[in-house]
Amino acid sequence: MLRTIKIDWKIPADFRTLETPFPRPERIYSGIDEIDPKTFPAFLDEIGLIGMGGGGFPASEKLWANRHSHTLVINGVECEPGSSIDKSVLLNDSLWVAAGAAACAKVVGATKVILAVQHNPEFVAEVNKLYSEFEILSFPDKYPAGAEKLILKRLTGKCPPPGSRPYEFGFLIQNVVSLRAVGRAIVDGIPVVERPLTLAMPSTGFYKNIIVPVGISVSELLDLYKLPYDSGIHLISDSGIMMGKEISKSSTIEKTTISIFILKRDVAFREERPCTRCGVCNTACPLGLHPFTLTEKIRKGKTGGNAFKGQMSECFLCGVCSAVCPSGIPLVQTLEKGKQCL
Ligand code: SF4
Ligand code: SF4
Repeated sequence: MLRTIKIDWKIPADFRTLETPFPRPERIYSGIDEIDPKTFPAFLDEIGLIGMGGGGFPASEKLWANRHSHTLVINGVECEPGSSIDKSVLLNDSLWVAAGAAACAKVVGATKVILAVQHNPEFVAEVNKLYSEFEILSFPDKYPAGAEKLILKRLTGKCPPPGSRPYEFGFLIQNVVSLRAVGRAIVDGIPVVERPLTLAMPSTGFYKNIIVPVGISVSELLDLYKLPYDSGIHLISDSGIMMGKEISKSSTIEKTTISIFILKRDVAFREERPCTRCGVCNTACPLGLHPFTLTEKIRKGKTGGNAFKGQMSECFLCGVCSAVCPSGIPLVQTLEKGKQCL
């Protein structure tokens, strides 16, 4: 449903500022050598770190699975339309991000660190200065360029086989905000109690990147920034319109909350028409899947075959196929149901 909301993003994404009540570190952490790879996963559990790029997977388990990686990739290719918190964290909290990256690289034995970002010449020039010790790799400025599978495809030069994971190719891919949290914990001893996020209300021109305590309610945020939310007119989107969901104002900010958008319920209804077999959805799918064939199988209940299961498990519900379909067929909504058949 959120994918059909029309947003007028006239306000420029301000990723230069990051409001925070916390003082930033003044030095690069020098205790990386003291980190013990054997006890570090337990340390990540202790600070309560889960994947803060949206996945929410326990960080200690991911690190353990990746313990023989040759390269750590910092995933800063944020592509959800309107969100700019990763860029903001990269520019404002570079010492924490760099400390977290150095620690994780050491723990998994990675000898190389790559910082993956969106291609924006001005931004790339700034991160080049801030992260001169890392290799910078820029990706197209379009959705869903930041998907782990697409980053892996670029790194390995080929489409990863279905069901494969980055560690099978020697790569550990970590989100920027997760690494910031690791850096914050090892530099300052602060566990994961804060969440950087983008807060925006496009209809009023409000747009900010902020750091808030985990557990604060959306309602408190609305009051804090005096945002004129009206439940009859607006909806609240948690973590974007492509991969996010609608929440209520009593919901709380979680460790996985990437953004909070207050949007007008201005839904672009599109009447569903029969499929013309134009193939646009197949061409647009970043993984080369066949969304319409999958959708037909789900609608007819033919979800038992291996080919179906293989493709369905690859699909990460990015919604690109739905967005491009000229017949208004709700492909991704049907694919969401298909996931439940796995
Ligand atoms: S949602 Fe559609 S475009 Fe995205 S991965 Fe799945 S099939 Fe491909
Ligand atoms: S884009 Fe839409 S109309 Fe075209 S093949 Fe896919 S489902 Fe059918």
